[in-house]
Amino acid sequence: MLGLYVHVPFCAAICNYCNFNRGLFDAGLKDRYVAALRQEIAAAADGSAADTVFFGGGTPSLLAPDEIASILDALRGGFDLAPDAEITLEANPETVTDSTLAGYRAAGVNRLSYGVQSFRDDDLARLGRLHTAARAGEAVRLARAAGFSNVSLDLMMWLPQQSIAQWLESVDRLVEVGPEHASLYLLEIYPNAPLRETMARSRWSLAPDDDAADMYLAAMDRLEQAGYEQYEISNVARRGRESTHNLKYWTGGGWTGFGCGAHSTRDGRRWKNRSSTEEYIATVAAGGHPRLDEHVLSADERLEERLFMGLRLTQGIDLGAIEREFGVDVWARHHEDLEPFLEGRLLIYDFPLLRLTRAGMLLANEIMRVFISPTVR
Ligand code: SF4
Repeated sequence: MLGLYVHVPFCAAICNYCNFNRGLFDAGLKDRYVAALRQEIAAAADGSAADTVFFGGGTPSLLAPDEIASILDALRGGFDLAPDAEITLEANPETVTDSTLAGYRAAGVNRLSYGVQSFRDDDLARLGRLHTAARAGEAVRLARAAGFSNVSLDLMMWLPQQSIAQWLESVDRLVEVGPEHASLYLLEIYPNAPLRETMARSRWSLAPDDDAADMYLAAMDRLEQAGYEQYEISNVARRGRESTHNLKYWTGGGWTGFGCGAHSTRDGRRWKNRSSTEEYIATVAAGGHPRLDEHVLSADERLEERLFMGLRLTQGIDLGAIEREFGVDVWARHHEDLEPFLEGRLLIYDFPLLRLTRAGMLLANEIMRVFISPTVR
């Protein structure tokens, strides 16, 4: 079944490391954007069966519950959305109240994903986040009170001035707070990020690379001890609480994205919507199509992507299934290049499954390069 993604490109402030498609909240622009979203959804409606909706951003929790409800109505009107569909809303802790959370829940949202990033106030201040650690804990409490039994938290590691012990404090606090799901990301500071300049001016430093690896490994150990299961390089969950929506990205599923900059991959085709919020609204309002770069994926592209994304999962890739689907014996084609990683215990081949070990996950990009055709590498 399809996944449906809705992009909400507004934020109350711009974090100093952020490279997402987002801009500052403006009430008038937001009203026109929600109208455009509904129009885009109506134009794309084809009654296909879908079992997930994901509101991502930006900060989707800057939309009022009735706006989220109106977008969900449009999706239900245009698609055959399963009654038990997983409906996720990304939220920033400082934006939610008991009444907005009750409103989202009443609209049908049944999973919240909070961008917490750290449970230490000094980390949060350095990142330019608007919430405190206490507020993040409170946001989870409010979610429980509003009836949410499926909550995910994002944390970021390898922050400026962050030691391994400080990182693990955040992980321990996450365990105490007790979400069903957690995503752990390494902070990546892109070349022109304002954070880079602030770091230089304030003489903040990053821990050595080896510490970043230790942060990752120690956090995964702690989360496992606390009953979470890692199912993807960056994601852990209580059993049965894996993100159904995100699993579509990693297992060759289909999804349609709505809103500015949203990507879609469906029926062997891929496209991306216009990134600019204003251009997106103007195009849709004029009855046009916001899609750009629509193209049919070649068999090689589909295979490469299946291998890349599948290897992110702890269960690995079923090479037998790949051979049946693509007619390619991946092991015969690549085993010589893969051999050093097998010997280094970074990769395990247990026919028909090929999977990364946890140490291998730290070098996933290097290992996955084996699958890129030599002309592109
Ligand atoms: S809240 Fe998220 S999307 Fe918005 S600026 Fe911060 S990191 Fe970027």
